[in-house]
Amino acid sequence: RKDGVAFWNELHVSPVLGEEGDVTHFVAIINDISERMKYEQQLEHKANYDDLTGLPNRNLMHDRLAQALIRAQRRDGVVALLFADIDRFKIINDSLGHQVGDRLLVTVGQRLRESVRANDTVARYGGDEFVVVLTDVASVDDVTQMATRITESLAAPIAIDDQTLRVTLSIGASLYPRDGREAATLIKNADTAMYRSKELGRNRFQFFTAELNEQVLERR
Ligand code: GH3
Ligand code: MG
Repeated sequence: RKDGVAFWNELHVSPVLGEEGDVTHFVAIINDISERMKYEQQLEHKANYDDLTGLPNRNLMHDRLAQALIRAQRRDGVVALLFADIDRFKIINDSLGHQVGDRLLVTVGQRLRESVRANDTVARYGGDEFVVVLTDVASVDDVTQMATRITESLAAPIAIDDQTLRVTLSIGASLYPRDGREAATLIKNADTAMYRSKELGRNRFQFFTAELNEQVLERR
């Protein structure tokens, strides 16, 4: 623009021929498409991020997980997937209202984000479920430590208006390549482990094991 600010534009240029059939000049038409670009960026953001928490959504989480698996495969690395579900969240919604529930989800998302490293992904998987993808995992202890850190960061009370709330998470974990090589398998297995954490009384962390799978399959 005249003031030096860059803007998105669409430029059409047509050559104009003179009497000899040579190009004598060009006619250019410029359209300011800033609005369209802004809208497209908004759409793209909406497709990949959760409106409420601003975290990556399930869609983007799948992408990030796929990338992490490819990288890990190349360098014999380990990837961990944590599946976390808030305990008794319905009670909060039912007793304090959906809006308070929403704000709680935002805070839980923030605390998860603050607990992990910058290159790890924290996503809202849906409802009161969050998924954490940990890359560059050095040992199983790393994962246990991370789960402990998450649990500790959640332990601090959450102030919403004049209420002081406490929430806990049930967490399940699966590891690439130990518990699966495919994204879908890793998610399913971490979910199974999370479910087991719920069964064992909630507010705990549990790794996936093959026996767990048998138990869950049998019950189903
Ligand atoms: P559990 O310990 O077994 O997980 O019990 P729970 O009450 O947390 O049950 P569950 O995880 O199955 O239910 C999640 C609830 O989260 C159900 C739904 O009403 C609520 N929920 C889902 N999405 C949202 C949302 O965007 N905002 C709010 N406020 N609540 C939501
Ligand atoms: Mg829940």
